Amino acid sequence: MDAHLDGLPMDALRAKLDETGVGGQHAETVFHALHRDLAPLHTLSKLGPRRLSRLLEVAKLSQVQIARAYPSADGTERWIYGLEDGLETEGVLIPMRPGPVPQKGQKSLQRNSLCVSSQVGCPVGCAFCATGRLGLKRSLQASEILGQIAAARRRAAELDRPITHLVFMGMGEPFLNQNALFDVLKILSDPHGWCLDAKHITVSTVGFCDRIDAFAEAFKGRFQLALSLHAGSQALREKLIPAAKQSPLDALHETLKRFPLPGSRYLMLEYLLLPGLNDSPEELEGLCHFAKDLRCIVNLIPFNAFEGCPFRSPNAEEISRAFEHLRNARIPCSIRQEHGQKIHGACGMLSLKQQSFQSVI
Ligand code: SAH
Ligand code: SF4
Repeated sequence: MDAHLDGLPMDALRAKLDETGVGGQHAETVFHALHRDLAPLHTLSKLGPRRLSRLLEVAKLSQVQIARAYPSADGTERWIYGLEDGLETEGVLIPMRPGPVPQKGQKSLQRNSLCVSSQVGCPVGCAFCATGRLGLKRSLQASEILGQIAAARRRAAELDRPITHLVFMGMGEPFLNQNALFDVLKILSDPHGWCLDAKHITVSTVGFCDRIDAFAEAFKGRFQLALSLHAGSQALREKLIPAAKQSPLDALHETLKRFPLPGSRYLMLEYLLLPGLNDSPEELEGLCHFAKDLRCIVNLIPFNAFEGCPFRSPNAEEISRAFEHLRNARIPCSIRQEHGQKIHGACGMLSLKQQSFQSVI
């Protein structure tokens, strides 16, 4: 269990407040301050002086700060978070297309997505990913993941750019930090918390069948699942993603078929375009075969090249050729518009050095 108060789901927080003499009956008030209002705990005078001073004595909170911020001309802002032990992790604020016309009294047309990290580095080591080259430094605690989100919400408010979506597509493989991830999702979806719409929260994974089943069991498909597929054949997938051996394509397909999709929910299949490698007619056929009986949208991601990587980015013609292949097979498909390449804030580029950029804070 997380040692920090801000990493505890409501039940665990109630138990902790009981055990320390603050009183479990105040759990909702404390939770509200920690996760909805982001208010300092010393402002909770309604607890009364004795209980408040006890709370301040026992309340160990995560210490995550934005250490550096790198804005880009395309509206993306990349953040380096400092953690208590001196390690760093990363996040990116990404502008999205404007949402629906606001109702009377509603302010913003803006939609911004926050890319969240679940680990420092990543143990999976995919051939195409800069984060994978770091290896795993360590997993983040639930409170550190929420600390990132809280720091990001404060900075986004200063910029007047509200965060409306979260994507677990930063550093790390979320399902290899499953306990912390599940606690974070419980806290995010608690009615006393931030109350971001669960369908606006996406967890991206290279796919571990047992973990996807556990995710389905715990949350019944309320959160959006994105599966990083990246190959149409098992042989190529294993070359690109070492962890693919553990969850072969046919087992993964069976797992996704039983993943609950309430309402109009769908799965997202992410497919990185690596020209000359996974965009051959055979690999694309394999992708279509995998996707055809799933309720899904394939998101084609143009590969972001980085120094020292053996692959190149696709050109416009290669992207549209892959798109047409899927369209002809009647597979719903979109092309990811990449943001933030210049500040290395785009997919798979986290971990690349920032020394050559100027931080604004
Ligand atoms: N570990 C999880 C989530 C983090 S990576 C996962 O792999 O799904 C988020 C997305 O970025 C994944 O779809 C990943 O395949 C993609 N990605 C990694 N390296 C990339 C690169 N160099 N260019 C474009 N996308 C990349
Ligand atoms: Fe890890 Fe995802 Fe990068 Fe693979 S793509 S190394 S799983 S962060």
